[in-house]
Amino acid sequence: MSAHPEVRQSTRARSTGTVVLVIDSHHPDAWFADDGGRWVTVCDEHGGNVNHDTLALARSWASSPEWFCDECSDAEAAR
Ligand SMILES: [Zn+2]
Repeated sequence: MSAHPEVRQSTRARSTGTVVLVIDSHHPDAWFADDGGRWVTVCDEHGGNVNHDTLALARSWASSPEWFCDECSDAEAAR
């Protein structure tokens, strides 16, 4: 059992080395609103996040936090 049942996926993005979470915003323990979509892809290190309508879409974004996290984007651009 996970301590955070609202977290559906936790993976380390190869592109940035940061951990990215996929959150179900409809879960009572979730700390995100469903504004823009139920599923939220979140950079665990910087807090950058984006909402999606489907879990599949949210999962597909988890490998590329530089698309939605400003700090990951800056870090990638600096390389
Ligand atoms: Zn980030």
